[in-house]
Amino acid sequence: MSPSFVELFYLLATGLFVFSLHWMNDPKTARRGVIAGASAMAIGMAATWFQPFIQNHGWMVLAVLAGIAVGWPLSRVSLTAAPQRTALSHAFGGLAAGLVGTAKYFAWLGEGPEALTTFRMIAIIAEVILGFITFTGSLFAAGKLQELNWVPQRPVTYFGQNIFNGLLLLVAVGMGAMLVNDPASDMAPLLFGGMIVIALLFGILLIIPIGGADMPTVIAILNSYAGLAAVAMGFVLENKLLITAGALDGASGLILSIIMCRAMNRSYMNVLFGAFGSVAPPQEGGEQGEYRADTIESASQIMEQANQVVIIPGYGMAVAQAQHKVRELYDQLMKRGIDVKFAIHPVAGRMPGHMNVLLAEADIPYTSLLEMDDINGEMPQCDVALVVGANDDVNPAARSEASSPIYGMPIIDADKARTIFAIKRTKNPGFAGIDNGLYFDEKTWMLFGDAKTVIGDLVKELSGESGIYTPGSRRRPA
Ligand code: NDP
Repeated sequence: MSPSFVELFYLLATGLFVFSLHWMNDPKTARRGVIAGASAMAIGMAATWFQPFIQNHGWMVLAVLAGIAVGWPLSRVSLTAAPQRTALSHAFGGLAAGLVGTAKYFAWLGEGPEALTTFRMIAIIAEVILGFITFTGSLFAAGKLQELNWVPQRPVTYFGQNIFNGLLLLVAVGMGAMLVNDPASDMAPLLFGGMIVIALLFGILLIIPIGGADMPTVIAILNSYAGLAAVAMGFVLENKLLITAGALDGASGLILSIIMCRAMNRSYMNVLFGAFGSVAPPQEGGEQGEYRADTIESASQIMEQANQVVIIPGYGMAVAQAQHKVRELYDQLMKRGIDVKFAIHPVAGRMPGHMNVLLAEADIPYTSLLEMDDINGEMPQCDVALVVGANDDVNPAARSEASSPIYGMPIIDADKARTIFAIKRTKNPGFAGIDNGLYFDEKTWMLFGDAKTVIGDLVKELSGESGIYTPGSRRRPA
């Protein structure tokens, strides 16, 4: 393929990547965005493959097959495991950048010192450090999210941690500077190896102090590191598409992490160094109050007489795959002229936009979905808040308890509603590992059970299918 055709295809792929990001901004066009992104990737790969300097086609076919063998099962994981799947993708991206940089360094070293220009060396050092930090950092983040036994779930913090980490990074950068200065000295291969080991170690040390509630933001930060590593790789390989695609990836990861920091009311530095949202140690003295369980019958009766119901979905709705039953409940309530809205917390579930995706799958109109800041003003007038498998996102401790590990995180003000129904299976805490005072509130009634079953029972009750009572036949209890 002639160079100008390659450039043309690269331009087309870059345009598609830009549109892909734009379309993914809105659930209505998100599917188109995914198709555009995948097509851009395919065009970029094909245009690169057919360049004259690509000779080892057999190896490339093997590499593609190996990629499919790993990627196919990863694409089948459930949505609830999406954060760890995303972290694994970043780990592979980081590893690829680190390995390409290492291979290029030794290949050019073999050609003689004149091949290792200052520009090339700076690009290689940036690629290798960022790539290997992203590799171990993302692997560790994936292990933490998957709750693997060998990965500490609680943030590991110790005296002088940030200074130690900073010094370590400085040593790696110092070794890199020595390599730029003299890339072919006798010590150079040793320095290169030492720099890799420190980058790998730094990736782990970067993740271990991060608290549970900050993991979503950290995944976005790792996304931006992977993008930056790809940019450096583009400079090493002199490939313009890698530079533009990596820059888009790095910038979108950075913007997403800033948006999430704002949503969590946190500074970027505080996320990386603050050990926020620590999984709290088991609390002594047992529960802080009494749970009051309610029956489906009386819950549906109260809902039926409400003017406004706000449904607050969380991770439990995703686990139970209750979104279609939630849609049926929405229909039943709307049929009665009740104003039904959904309150969406920015970190509800286990990935950004998790609840939006599930509710869109159940065809719930986007107009009924309100972001936290838009719904909170309405909560004091809301007759019923129905919490469906959400926990940390509605925990009032974030507002009132300065000692709480989630203090300062904005929440959906479910506790301000007139009546609260909370669906969960057990008395266990949520992701941050802390008790939730909302469940002990005198206005709260627990509906214990799997979210899909409980909502299904509420729907049956409201539609009269259960045969226990005739809808609309009872009065709200005093
Ligand atoms: P939480 O993880 O805090 O709580 C989920 C609740 O759902 C639990 O109390 C659990 O209780 C209940 N639950 C689980 N399965 C079921 C089921 N089948 N039926 C009914 N209930 C069920 O969820 P939130 O959405 O409120 O908060 C998200 C948390 O995850 C935040 O701390 C956030 O920082 C973190 N996070 C978010 C990410 C993101 O990008 N959105 C990524 C990584 C972490 P029980 O077991 O008793 O049923």
